[in-house]
Amino acid sequence: MRWISWAVAWMASAALPVAAQSPQLAPAARYGIVLDAAHGGDDSGGKLTSGQMEKAVTLAFNVRLRSMLSARGFAVITTRESDTTLPPDRRAEIANHAQAQACIPLHATESGSGVHLFVSSITPSRPTLFVPWKTAQSAWVARSLAMAGALNAALLHAGMSVTIERTFLPGLDSLTCPAVAVEVAPDRAQDGSVTAEPDDAAYQAKVASALAAGMLAFRSEKSEP
Ligand SMILES: [Zn+2]
Repeated sequence: MRWISWAVAWMASAALPVAAQSPQLAPAARYGIVLDAAHGGDDSGGKLTSGQMEKAVTLAFNVRLRSMLSARGFAVITTRESDTTLPPDRRAEIANHAQAQACIPLHATESGSGVHLFVSSITPSRPTLFVPWKTAQSAWVARSLAMAGALNAALLHAGMSVTIERTFLPGLDSLTCPAVAVEVAPDRAQDGSVTAEPDDAAYQAKVASALAAGMLAFRSEKSEP
């Protein structure tokens, strides 16, 4: 019965609206990274203890990470630069048109601690010429796991606690590049007390710096054929 779900996915992709404007393209010779600040506009995301909404925290973190990555020679493409509503399909569309070498959706949460890395739970598949939109990430899961490994090593090296999970996140399964969602949780002491909230500027800078180091390591890895 598998072909039926694929056919449905294909029909769904055909019904997607076509972008009115072409997104900014990364120059082919450069290493492009798409940063996707999750939530925005009507979608506030979660609320942090500080009273900040997740959509504002991801946007601020997006700016910090962008400057860290740009300083290391990456060509950064962002899906949003302001408090705008962006549906998951539109985010994936921007990312896929950019033909970036990596995509990083950004979230923030009050639960857990340190940095949570998420890779799509979709079943890996071999790359084919035509991939259904909804399951496009299946050809990239192995590279996404390798990217998560590089980010994990860099974050641990910076003294942060890290978790890696396979999960379903809206938009993640549609991405046609190595993709790891990054969720910033509070930095906590051994006893569980919060030492830095996800919207703390110095903490965000520390996480962004470690992620940029992780992307440098991932970029230098030889990709599989
Ligand atoms: Zn979120």
